[in-house]
Amino acid sequence: MRFPLFSMFLMGVSGLSMAQNPPEEIKTNPTPKVKNVILMIGDGTGLAQWSAAQSRVDEPLHVYTLSEYLGLSKTSSASHFITDSGAGATAISIGEKTYNKAIGLRADTTMAFTLSEMLHVKGKSTGLVATCGLTHATPASFYAHQNNRYMDKEIAEDFYGGFIDVAIGGGFPHFDTSRLHKLGYATYFYKEHNFDSINSSDFVAFYDTANHPVPYAMGRGNFLKDATMTAIRNLSRNDNGFFLMVEGSQIDWGGHDNNAEYVISEALDFDSTIAAVGQWAKADGETLVIITADHETGGLSLFEETENKEAKFAFSTKHHTGIPVPVFAFGPMSHLFKGVYENNEIHFKILKALDIKP
Ligand code: MG
Ligand code: ZN
Repeated sequence: MRFPLFSMFLMGVSGLSMAQNPPEEIKTNPTPKVKNVILMIGDGTGLAQWSAAQSRVDEPLHVYTLSEYLGLSKTSSASHFITDSGAGATAISIGEKTYNKAIGLRADTTMAFTLSEMLHVKGKSTGLVATCGLTHATPASFYAHQNNRYMDKEIAEDFYGGFIDVAIGGGFPHFDTSRLHKLGYATYFYKEHNFDSINSSDFVAFYDTANHPVPYAMGRGNFLKDATMTAIRNLSRNDNGFFLMVEGSQIDWGGHDNNAEYVISEALDFDSTIAAVGQWAKADGETLVIITADHETGGLSLFEETENKEAKFAFSTKHHTGIPVPVFAFGPMSHLFKGVYENNEIHFKILKALDIKP
């Protein structure tokens, strides 16, 4: 666990500390305790994307069978009816809707603390796993504060703030590994290293030297599942718990390409990662798992042609859409995620589940 100087500053300012003596009603009527939170974001993954994936497998999707509560998240940003991934992830991360392309900034461009920063200050370990570069909009929204998502160099610079303990994804060209080593991070490559042997509280692992990992259909293998379980194994050694964000990044890219096969293979890869997370979390008993999306991509629809009983797919746009996206949740306090609400409410539901005052 890392405690850079500025975190000490945050602790001093926020004065946030868990109540040592819970009120009487909690003692007599105990609520399930949440120690760890795993937030899984399928970028661009609405119900149609899940339905397209379901059409290819006989057994119900793991995301369906594991979920105990279901909600709907309204994804519009502060600036546009149709959000981008920066504003979408930032709304969840900072708890406020912001303008499209913003990373970890409010709508008025001032800085707000991300979930990772807030929970790091609480003594939790923090992690990020993505199938895109680690400076890409979704993971960046959990550690960086920049006014444009495409400022990869500046976003990487924010990573050196050091409050992310474990990060696994792409993005190698934007990082300086000698600087990471000086900050105390070990570094690895998925293609060269057996992830089962990683035994470190602070590390950054890249898929390879490219910016983005290849699509699942082009040989990425079990990277997402291996990365996620490697992150969990190392983060869960912290007795204070952890916060992990896992992104199925390329489901969105299949939507932008209007390529149903790309969407389906990425969504099934994400679902098999959800299965592994679910098995671990249910055995752990103190882990809340939330599976949602930042927005839908492609305006995907499923239909059937009369001569052919198989599902067919059609897209209505190459961009994102404004339809609400599902929020699946299981584990302690997962009931907080039922209902229909704005995307930034997810931030406060996570804090409430952890019994942390915003
Ligand atoms: Mg993304
Ligand atoms: Zn997108």
